[in-house]
Amino acid sequence: MFKIGELSIHLISDGTVMMDSGGPWGLVPRALWSKYLTPDDQHRVPMVLTSLLVRAAGKTILVDTGLGDKLTPKMIEMWGLTRPHGTLIEGLARLAVRPADVDIVIDTHLHGDHCAGNTIFTANGDTVAAFPNAHYVVQRREYEDAMHPNERTRGTYYAINYEPLVQSGQMTLLDGDSEIVPGVRVVVTPGHTPGHQSVLFESGGECALFVSDMASYAIHFEKLGWMTAYDVEPLVTLETKRRWQQWALETNGLVIFQHDPTIMAGHLVEDEKGLRTITPVEAAFV
Ligand SMILES: [Zn+2]
Repeated sequence: MFKIGELSIHLISDGTVMMDSGGPWGLVPRALWSKYLTPDDQHRVPMVLTSLLVRAAGKTILVDTGLGDKLTPKMIEMWGLTRPHGTLIEGLARLAVRPADVDIVIDTHLHGDHCAGNTIFTANGDTVAAFPNAHYVVQRREYEDAMHPNERTRGTYYAINYEPLVQSGQMTLLDGDSEIVPGVRVVVTPGHTPGHQSVLFESGGECALFVSDMASYAIHFEKLGWMTAYDVEPLVTLETKRRWQQWALETNGLVIFQHDPTIMAGHLVEDEKGLRTITPVEAAFV
């Protein structure tokens, strides 16, 4: 758990997926990235699925909802999904939070590993909100792209994760940076997708940024030129990271990573040669 001024931020796991190494590493040669993560015998590397449970301004806020429970056995196999810390819902229960207690759900973007837990199937096959009293938010641009995917982007956009929420009026589409509650803002961080957003926490003179897929692993945040093959606008990702590296150096803000199996959060530090690295801080899932 992190305390940022008055805010408390808990890290909850919805599992670990095994991704073909070409995904997270893109153009980075294996000789370089394999110093950071060792691939398995199928050339896959792990990505953890981290959600945040934030208590701020009297509200219970969930950031991203993992892969959820609508997956077929085939999809579970495709993702290589295991859940050593249980599901997101079980993690919330350890914090004594029931799905009905969540006031706000922030989706950083609408890829399946970030929002499939938004909705559940009812016994008669309807799709409804997994967090029945929550007000969901995502960027309008992200929603429009997700509803009109192309041959390159459609692999991980599933309308059942978000369209029913917009139809029921439970999901609000945001146009740009927005305050969610005092101390919690979403900021558009394009590149991974054009409508991708990160979550900025500011309270009591302290700050933190949940970068989501602006930098899937800590090393992606350190090295501007390293980015995943999933990014639809890689050169935009690069400029987004340049801007937020500057923020991290100027504020000494805590940077929280969503998919890194070893470095969950840290501070960016620049040495005398200008090399920028993350100094990890201790963190654990609930
Ligand atoms: Zn992701």
